Amino acid sequence: MSRTAVIAGNWKMHGTVAQTRELAAALVERLGSAAKDRQVVIAPPFTSLQAAAEAVRGSAIEIGAQNVHWEASGAFTGEIAAAMLVEAGCRWVIVGHSERRQRFGETDADVARRARAALAAGLRTIICLGETLGERDGGLTLDVVRRQARAALLDLGAAAIRNVCIAYEPVWAIGTGRAATPEQAEEVHGKLREVVAEVAGGNEAERVRILYGGSVKPENVDSLMAQPDIDGALVGGASLDAESFARIVEFGA
Ligand code: PEP
Repeated sequence: MSRTAVIAGNWKMHGTVAQTRELAAALVERLGSAAKDRQVVIAPPFTSLQAAAEAVRGSAIEIGAQNVHWEASGAFTGEIAAAMLVEAGCRWVIVGHSERRQRFGETDADVARRARAALAAGLRTIICLGETLGERDGGLTLDVVRRQARAALLDLGAAAIRNVCIAYEPVWAIGTGRAATPEQAEEVHGKLREVVAEVAGGNEAERVRILYGGSVKPENVDSLMAQPDIDGALVGGASLDAESFARIVEFGA
């Protein structure tokens, strides 16, 4: 089965509204209606979502948020609800990023709750997971990603999983300039597809898009995307430069 590639830019805590308008407009100009065989997503900070949605209107670029809470409203200072993201123009959301897990103590159970709420609101959901350097060195990579994937997917049901992308992001590769090799990433992606098959069946496993993230750059995107189980990229640093991100979107050209 051929899977439509997804290239998503995680802007993290970068960009005022004015800077967002400028970068989003540059991407629209550079990518136009983009290739029909790939989806392009940008995920700016919450305060810039609406401006980003306005800037990309009419283009093929879609907007994502960087997190979402599982409740619809309430006393959850600093959190944001799925309906609020939809209202701001989001079609996508990222959950379980390693910075959320490591720096803000999010657990596998939190990530699962966030994913469930996002999917219930109709958001396409990018579930991030990946091992630390210590876990890789200890030979635990496949066990760790299997645990994280099962925890996030187990209660979703096959229909919801259709709106899920998994992003394999080895923690040691994020923001370090040291990407996984295509072979290292492919090994993990193959394992993740097996987990999806166990949880949701073979059809969903064939269908699910598994993105790689961790120091993706114009220089390495082609070799990563040439792997059979790598269906896209989640891009941090290189997504903040219009030319770099556009080149990554144009992988394989
Ligand atoms: C990320 O934060 O999701 C990421 C992949 O960052 P970078 O591309 O900068 O490694």
